Formats: sequence, structure tokens, C-alpha cells
Amino acid sequence: MSNEKPLINEVLSRWLEPPQDLVPDLDCVACTLSTEDRAHAQRWRDFKCCAFQPFFANFLCGAMLEAGISPFVDSQRVSLQPLGLIPTRDFRDRCEKTPDALRDKTHLCAFYQRDTRQCSVWKFRPGECSFYFCKSNTRRETWSTRAFAVENGLAQMALAQQGFSPARIAEQVDFLNSPPLGLPSLTRAEAEEIYRAAWTFAKAQDALSVASWLRQG
Ligand code: SF4
Ligand code: SF4
Repeated sequence: MSNEKPLINEVLSRWLEPPQDLVPDLDCVACTLSTEDRAHAQRWRDFKCCAFQPFFANFLCGAMLEAGISPFVDSQRVSLQPLGLIPTRDFRDRCEKTPDALRDKTHLCAFYQRDTRQCSVWKFRPGECSFYFCKSNTRRETWSTRAFAVENGLAQMALAQQGFSPARIAEQVDFLNSPPLGLPSLTRAEAEEIYRAAWTFAKAQDALSVASWLRQG
């Protein structure tokens, strides 16, 4: 997590406009768990909430590439897939086996910067991170679900536009839900081409059309 106030990432804000009062009074610069949960204070101070690996949709990766930011990070943690950066089976299992409060540097998100204790891709972080806060509430969770639907739906549409078959897209969704062991990655060149094209498609879509595909009000 970072310490800036904007709630939602710059990309998703094209299609979603969450109410501003979802921004907490306290942000992560004054991480509440690092002071309130004494038993695990060091864990929260060191790594904040970033001891897991979120999914990065293909168009988010393309937006990063356009901004000159590389989405190509630790291959132990993420697999380069047409749908986006999907956490590997090994890394997901490692995180799921360890209670959150006990996670350490071996569970960190590939985009977490240990020296600054900040997210290195804050403006492009997924909705899962945008809407997360330790003092959770159902409104934030509802918006997080909407953000995920936009990410997942747009990423799939972007693949369809590139000629991926329905079966191949469904396979990608299965990988996202449960990545198999040893899931082969795309090469960087292959991934870059797909991610850039996904962003070109996604940024041409307006909020109304995205909402209508996803049947959101
Ligand atoms: S969301 Fe995480 S990093 Fe931010 S204040 Fe809460 S516990 Fe700390
Ligand atoms: S993307 Fe950024 S905010 Fe999200 S878990 Fe990774 S480092 Fe933390």
C-alpha cells in the first residue's frame, strides 16, 4: 500500500467513479495495524498489506508499458499470461498456507518496494488494492467486486478483440481462478504485444459501454 489519498487507480477511474467518502481518514502512512496489533506490529510496519500477489489485468500492464513502467517482474510470483499477470500456483500456495500476520519478505508482492515501503505501481495497482483498507466495510467490498468485474471483463474482451477463441479465454479465466503447477509463461515480447493491444482497446471504451457489458447500474 502507498500513502497517497486517491482511492482508485488512474486506469479504472475511466469506468468507475466510487464516492470520495470511501477514502479513509487515516491512510497507510499511519498504518493502523502497525500500532494497534502489537504482536504483529513489525510485520505491518515492514510490509504493510502487500504480502500477497494480486492479479494485474492485461490492459493495466499495457497502461504501465505506455507510461514507461515495466510490468515484467519476478517470475516466481507471477506468470505472464494473455489475461494479465497471474500469481503462480507455488506463490499462491505459499501465501495461503501462512496466516497474514505471520507473512514475511518471501510473501511480498513483486511490486512492493522494500526500501521505501511503498507500492511501485500505485497509479496502476489493481482494484483489489485500490479498495482494500484494514478498516474494511461492505461499501468498499462492493466497489472492489465491481472493480474486479471491470478488470476481468475488459481483459477478456481485449483478448476477444485480438482473435483469442472463447475456449482459450475460458482457459485463461480457469488459470486465474486456479493456476496449475508449472503454468508456462508467455515470452516478454509476446506478453508486451498482447498487453499493449489490450490497453489500446480498453482505453477506447467508455464507462457506459463497459457498464452495459457488465450489467452494472
Ligand atoms: S490498509 Fe494495510 S497498510 Fe494500510 S493502514 Fe491498513 S493495515 Fe496498514
Ligand atoms: S500492487 Fe502495490 S498496493 Fe497492491 S499488493 Fe502490490 S505493492 Fe501492494
